[in-house]
Amino acid sequence: MLNGMETAKLAWSRLPNSEDGEVDEVGVSKKIDGSSVESLDYEVIENHAYREEQAQRGKLYVGYYVVVKWFFALLIGIGTGLAAVFINISVENFAGWKYSLTFAIIQKSYIAGFVVYVLINLVLVFSSVFIITQFAPAAAGSGIPEIKGYLNGVDTHGILLFRTLIGKIFGSIGSVGGGLALGKEGPLVHTGACIASLLGQGGSTKYHLSSRWLQFFNSDRDRRDLVTCGCAAGVAAAFRAPVGGVLFALEEVTSWWRSQLMWRVFFTSAIVAVVVRTAMGWCKSGKCGHFGSGGFIIWDISGVLFSGQEDYSFEELLPMAVIGVIGGLLGALFNQLTRYITYWRRNYLHKKGNRVKIIEVCLISLITSVISFGLPLFRECTPCPESDPSSGIECPRPPGMYGNYVNFFCGKDNEYNDLATIFFNTQDDAIRNLFSAKTIHEYSAQGLLTFLVVTFGTAVPAGQFVPGIMIGSTYGRLVGMFVVSFYKKLNIEEGTYALLGAASFLGGSMRMTVSLCVIMVEITNNLKLLPLIMLVLLISKAVGDAFNEGLYEEQARLRGIPLLESRPKYEMRKMTAKGVCGNRKVVYLPRVVKVADIVFILKSNNHNGFPVIDHARSGETLVTGLMLRSHLLVLLQSKVDFQHSPLPNDSRGGSLPIRHNFSEFVKPVSSKGISIHDINLTPDDLEMYIDLAPFVNPSPYIVSEDMSLTKVYNLFRQLGLRHIFVVPRVSRVIGMITRKDLLIEDNEDSATVELQSTSV
Ligand code: ATP
Ligand code: MG
Repeated sequence: MLNGMETAKLAWSRLPNSEDGEVDEVGVSKKIDGSSVESLDYEVIENHAYREEQAQRGKLYVGYYVVVKWFFALLIGIGTGLAAVFINISVENFAGWKYSLTFAIIQKSYIAGFVVYVLINLVLVFSSVFIITQFAPAAAGSGIPEIKGYLNGVDTHGILLFRTLIGKIFGSIGSVGGGLALGKEGPLVHTGACIASLLGQGGSTKYHLSSRWLQFFNSDRDRRDLVTCGCAAGVAAAFRAPVGGVLFALEEVTSWWRSQLMWRVFFTSAIVAVVVRTAMGWCKSGKCGHFGSGGFIIWDISGVLFSGQEDYSFEELLPMAVIGVIGGLLGALFNQLTRYITYWRRNYLHKKGNRVKIIEVCLISLITSVISFGLPLFRECTPCPESDPSSGIECPRPPGMYGNYVNFFCGKDNEYNDLATIFFNTQDDAIRNLFSAKTIHEYSAQGLLTFLVVTFGTAVPAGQFVPGIMIGSTYGRLVGMFVVSFYKKLNIEEGTYALLGAASFLGGSMRMTVSLCVIMVEITNNLKLLPLIMLVLLISKAVGDAFNEGLYEEQARLRGIPLLESRPKYEMRKMTAKGVCGNRKVVYLPRVVKVADIVFILKSNNHNGFPVIDHARSGETLVTGLMLRSHLLVLLQSKVDFQHSPLPNDSRGGSLPIRHNFSEFVKPVSSKGISIHDINLTPDDLEMYIDLAPFVNPSPYIVSEDMSLTKVYNLFRQLGLRHIFVVPRVSRVIGMITRKDLLIEDNEDSATVELQSTSV
């Protein structure tokens, strides 16, 4: 078995001038935030344990593995679909009770109604922020930047844990139900990712909710695929947009993509769509309290009431392009503002502790309640539009009921207050109104903008999709109103412009194109608008890109997540691999190493990978491979490989049997794992030796010192690496591989014949 390994070794002509065990302080000080962000090991560590495990596996196992992967994709779909249904039913019911109670009390006393409304909101929001700060800090925020980071190769501590999942679900119910201007889409993406990861590792080990037979996908590499399925499932569930979910995962969150994964993600999204549809059908008959046909975002603008624009004329393209430009500008501004506010809050406000976070969110809830109760009073009531019973929209709303057109102190029964209609509805209903209702005054845009800027990015689970849609559809509608009065002859619908406004704002802020376009088409059920949405998205993305980065990239940067973008920076072309390494001395391990030396090295630096060197009989120095810190810790903790002799195993008559399963080397998800300080070693243990040869990764990626940094970057990014060795020019080449060497078929004879015949 060692033969294969040895061929992978590089003859080492010149060793950098470091002594084994010497510590590189420069490397330690350059770290970003080592405590909470660590890279993942997406690379396969082909150590002896791995090779032995692979050798034992037959074809049956491969089939079983594929079946289990599909089964997990099914479970992720069902799990995320059910979580989304639960969140929606809860939000709708809490909001429903809140609005019914408030409106019942308002008939008797305005002040009492106001107090009750404020108190209910405060309780809901407080419960949300309390859960997050005390129980699941990793569940704060939308979660998409962290998941994007995870799929890019960096693990933020705690993002995929069971308690984060629970915190996320209950936190978003509290914050959205409590009336904060935040969406539940980001949280659903995070929820899907958590469900996927937990399923992959067979449940939560900490809370003893795990099952051994499910512990199948516990390497970072396998988990990556499951988490991708989870993200797509989240979006599919949030918007009831299965194809949009797949494209969102592809365009926005993942860094690596393959066609097999696409099929599985597509399958998961389809399952989510079925689960959500079934649950909604079941709820329609009134079994789910206030939860009716609303809740899940679906604005069918092909309905009778808001017929949606069937066609558009050439003159309209200009105002639509203007919407795109406005979307790009406002989106970029939104990102910039968010950046400043988040920066300020992180560095000044949140440093003061959890109590400040709780007070902050409660204060925002209070302000939101005051605004939503106060502003509608300044608006005049409008007569109800012609209502269509089949659309489920009631105007005037029956007393004691909640949803849609709100009669807020209007003199007549068949009138409604447009601003109250926005404020006293769940966001999904409010957006439905924006896309349809006939009159929305600018004032609502100002009101929305004010509190959106304030609410954005608080310490509660928050999505930016729905707030973005609300801002966008508000100004889109304003442009629509202007266009209607300008081109009187044309049959123009304001709702169409609201929709385009929403698309443009999201495009300008999130910088997605294909996925957003499909999501918008899926949620509005109007395919005819597709070319317009495409136009608007392209313009808004281009305009936004001229100013700053997309929202999630900005957020990831603020959170200290070292994302590798898809393209290297231009300057990298002039830099070389050696230039980046500088004069830092490399921290090496010898092949047979004293336990005390390992402990010293691990304690004196934070590096996670160490080259292992050996001396050939000829006296030549060989690099045996890469040893990970986490694997060293496993060896130190188990102690079974300790030996008294400082000689390698094979020099003492054959290699010893491997005493570890490959799964022992796998680090639990999203946790810091064990630390060198947790391991107890006796003075006798410290005097022992370990032969590292069976545990190293014998085939690490190696680049030559003068390779340009652009190439290194692309290698790193495309292969999802964690470490690369930089070596001097190699002295020998033992072979050459070309494309055709890699076309190996099951039957090798036929493959050779085929290749020969094609090359003639
Ligand atoms: P990770 O996410 O894997 O923790 P990191 O960026 O925190 O990655 P460290 O291992 O702490 O990486 O390394 C910090 C710096 O030290 C890097 O710039 C790297 O080039 C250098 N470095 C890493 N390992 C070694 C080593 N064994 N010897 C010398 N320098 C190293
Ligand atoms: Mg680190």
